[in-house]
Amino acid sequence: MFAAITTTATGARSLILVCQALPATLWLPETVASTVDLPADLAVKTYSGSLKAVVAQLWPAQTGFIFALASGAVVRLIAPLLTDKATDPAVVVVDDAGQFAISLCGGHQGGGDRLTQRISQLLAATPVITSAAQQQQLPGIDVLGEPFGWQRGTGNWTGVASAIARGEAIQVIQEAGTTLWQQHLPAHHPFQFGWPEVPTPASKTAVSPQARVWISPIQRRFDVEATMPKVQWHPRVLWVGLGCERGTSQALMERAIADTLRLRHLALAAVAGIATLDLKADETGLLALCQAHHWPLKCFTANELRSVPVPHPSPVVEQAVGTPSVAEAAAIRAAMAIAPPSTSAGDCPVKTAENCLCITKKVIREVGEPGAVTVAVAEANGEYTGRPGQLSLVGTGPGSLDQITPAAKDALSQADAIIGYSLYVDLIRPLLRPGQIVEGWPITQEQQRAERAIALAQWGLTVAVISSGDCGIYAMAGLVLETLQAQGWDGQTPTVTSYPGISALQAAAARVGAPLMHDFCAISLSDLLTPWPVIEKRLAAAAAADFVIALYNPKSQKRTEQIAIAQQLILQHRSAETPAALVRSAYRPDESIIVTTLGDLLDHPIDMLTTVIIGNRSTQLYANQLITPRGYRL
Ligand code: SAH
Repeated sequence: MFAAITTTATGARSLILVCQALPATLWLPETVASTVDLPADLAVKTYSGSLKAVVAQLWPAQTGFIFALASGAVVRLIAPLLTDKATDPAVVVVDDAGQFAISLCGGHQGGGDRLTQRISQLLAATPVITSAAQQQQLPGIDVLGEPFGWQRGTGNWTGVASAIARGEAIQVIQEAGTTLWQQHLPAHHPFQFGWPEVPTPASKTAVSPQARVWISPIQRRFDVEATMPKVQWHPRVLWVGLGCERGTSQALMERAIADTLRLRHLALAAVAGIATLDLKADETGLLALCQAHHWPLKCFTANELRSVPVPHPSPVVEQAVGTPSVAEAAAIRAAMAIAPPSTSAGDCPVKTAENCLCITKKVIREVGEPGAVTVAVAEANGEYTGRPGQLSLVGTGPGSLDQITPAAKDALSQADAIIGYSLYVDLIRPLLRPGQIVEGWPITQEQQRAERAIALAQWGLTVAVISSGDCGIYAMAGLVLETLQAQGWDGQTPTVTSYPGISALQAAAARVGAPLMHDFCAISLSDLLTPWPVIEKRLAAAAAADFVIALYNPKSQKRTEQIAIAQQLILQHRSAETPAALVRSAYRPDESIIVTTLGDLLDHPIDMLTTVIIGNRSTQLYANQLITPRGYRL
């Protein structure tokens, strides 16, 4: 929940767009609300009296505040309410004119830096972000694991962040979870991975680390007196296999799990979920336990469990429920069901059904508590993110950054991962933020790109698949949806949202006047995916029907004949004088524009970066502009 607060009419006008996009509730003094034209669908609240009291009242429940106020006033308003950076909400200040967006506090864990980036994109404002990690193009150490659902453990977070800010070397010991983040760091980052090898003359001269980051299911206790600051992230890799008698209380299960983990120094925060026998799917205490911890409950049939080899099979259990093991077998099955979509930590061996059980079963009873619990714990190769995945199909327009919609920019800055053809990824690089997983792919391999994006989204990430122009026009959107369809997608997981972009035909048309003012069509001359006879048929039909024609993919190094055939087919229905345009790399630094005629089309260079526009029978050429009459002046 976001609150956008201002005391002036100009401030309100700056915040309207932000409120609609986030969405956020707009807070205004009663006296100002009546002076501003507010959209009907906007959530608006008015107040009279002290703003300080309003902010204090809103403070505990909001994820973020956006103030259009002087920053000094905001500092005074929030100063008494701040507690610590782990719990404070994001606070962003926008100046009255909407030129700057300042991340004031709650920058990392409160999400203030990201919110600031979003807002500045929405308002075309300059983001002012002062955190050191941002300057170094690094993900904040206290938000590093958020995309993967890792839980922040104990440690001296400020100490480690300060060491990073000072540019000191940081040791990272990663014993679990994806190492994807390591592959997307800037070239000069401060992290040293793993333990140093046996000292060699070279390693002796290496900079010695001044702070340590653990990424592990193990809960380490750090000496508060130690000079080296340390922190720990806990990827959710542990599956607790649980069996219980009917009517066992939630409290007993809770203590049994906590005690079992503590004995082996495993973090409760590293628990991914609970696994059990399907007969227990309605066990009240178990359901309450899972709900309280946001743990998924994985239920297996006796048949699924009986085939799992376990260290402690029990004939008694087998007789009662049809499988010799519940806790151990369910833990192993749940852990083995998680296949990480990307490389996992190199510091620990791959888990198999034979070695993933890290705690064998224990039966726990307590005097005075009804019931009994059996607990076993297995470690998976990949983490459970606990996040619903999202796919954003983003059109990044013809080339320059100012031709991308604010909504598309917003989707890019929100994404955990960006996937696209490397040329297009490079074009939007200035819009990306530190810590994003950015995968530029070769021009072919569209199917692999789609599969990769889907796999990351199914794992829980927010993934932006980018295409130039519009994502749904000769681009990735269709392929992603077809691939989802082939996988039996339920329409919801992951969610899919499209962000339209300016397509090449619009961009090219805008550069040469108004050729698309009457009925038009797009035809791709690439016969890679469409048989050539089909393309010829469409060209002839479009020419006969007098459509203005935009030709995509007109010519490549290997495919040179098609454009000549297209010209001949169209010439059968239109005069050689018909105005035409060749627009190459529209809105990119190497843009070139040639206005010509259908007859002279081939006298000019044409390649894969060109869109060809051919006018209809009434298209005129005037002052180097193609004008297709709509009919107003006839
Ligand atoms: N999804 C894209 C089209 C991809 S097909 C869109 O909606 O624009 C690739 C073809 O698009 C190229 O061969 C070229 O014909 C055209 N194209 C893409 N970007 C262009 C640009 N900036 N200028 C001119 N043509 C472009």
